Amino acid sequence: MTEKEITEALREVEHPGNGDRNIVELGMLESVATDGNKVTVSLVFPKHRDPLAEYLVGSCKAAVIRHWPQAEVEVRTTVKEAAPKKKPGLDLGTEELVNVKHLIGIASGKGGVGKSTVAVNLAVALAREGYRVGLADADVYGPSVPKMTGTEGAVPDAFNDPELGRDVIMPVEKYGVKWMSIGYFARPEQALIWRGPMACNALKQMILQVRWGELDFLLIDMPPGTGDIHISLVHDIPFEGAVIVSTPQDVALADVEKGVNMFRNSSINKKIFGLVENMAWFTPEELPQNKYYIFGKDGGARMAAKYGIPLLGQIPIVQSIREGGDSGEPVALSSRPDGIAFAALAARLAEEAASGTSSGNNGQPAADREK
Ligand code: ADP
Repeated sequence: MTEKEITEALREVEHPGNGDRNIVELGMLESVATDGNKVTVSLVFPKHRDPLAEYLVGSCKAAVIRHWPQAEVEVRTTVKEAAPKKKPGLDLGTEELVNVKHLIGIASGKGGVGKSTVAVNLAVALAREGYRVGLADADVYGPSVPKMTGTEGAVPDAFNDPELGRDVIMPVEKYGVKWMSIGYFARPEQALIWRGPMACNALKQMILQVRWGELDFLLIDMPPGTGDIHISLVHDIPFEGAVIVSTPQDVALADVEKGVNMFRNSSINKKIFGLVENMAWFTPEELPQNKYYIFGKDGGARMAAKYGIPLLGQIPIVQSIREGGDSGEPVALSSRPDGIAFAALAARLAEEAASGTSSGNNGQPAADREK
């Protein structure tokens, strides 16, 4: 009686609770050892207190003795519980973010200031500088990344990762950037009328369930405003910090404070990389040297000084920037002045990120510190 023969004999032992599959097939037979007439069988159970454990131990002894009546059989049992599987969607961990160097939220106090335009162009400009970049469009109410990047209709691949025990989604790649948007999962004409927890979960999936791989920068285009959904997002996503986008109008600048406070709040205390002043001035296409401060001058610089944060860049209002958004070819791809404005912004952000310091901006705003 060899160990192999004994293993064959043990195939006669079926587990009645497992579709009558035998213990060898089920991977429950850990080892068989023989020493003269002595046979030691080791069984492994996937859970504690299998009600059929005693029955299986007895059946194993019987199966061996049936073939070799002289055998003295000992059956040992151990328990190896499988690691609990993650529930898809709602209980996502941060596994996909471990190789992301800088996770940065692009936020604005209010909608319509060009947050998505800045996020998309910044991503392209960073990629042109040679960085590995991803952008997650977390604007579940009005996803604009597919249109702005000309990737509408793309269908991201998804597959099951047996190690994580759940599905992962592959980002869409174009212009050297990995893009992800809820827009890839909804038809353009479908209004996204998600609210509360559902919107929040969808949004976290767009960040946590995506196989980003190794990235220098992962930008998150935050939903506009500073509501509950943001608070939840800022709590659950391990942001390094934020870039705040505003126009120089007083009404928009007043909302910058809300954006800054959202990340600086004492329980969160994230870095503010700086402010981007979008639509800083108007430059007509035919007079590229002229600057018209139609929304007021230096509002961004004043606001940045008030909060003790860097003014990372100023982006003019130019027709080509809007057209680039509409045509799916971001202006940051070009080497014209508007493209260069985004290249300068990218270089400045990379510098801030590499410095690793909080630019003295994590504590009190400069205005308060002076008091
Ligand atoms: P938000 O994400 O803040 O809601 P968007 O990025 O969608 O704003 O921009 C709103 C509109 O303004 C879009 O039509 C966009 O093309 C346009 N826009 C944004 N920034 C500029 C700019 N610097 N010059 C010209 N048009 C711009």
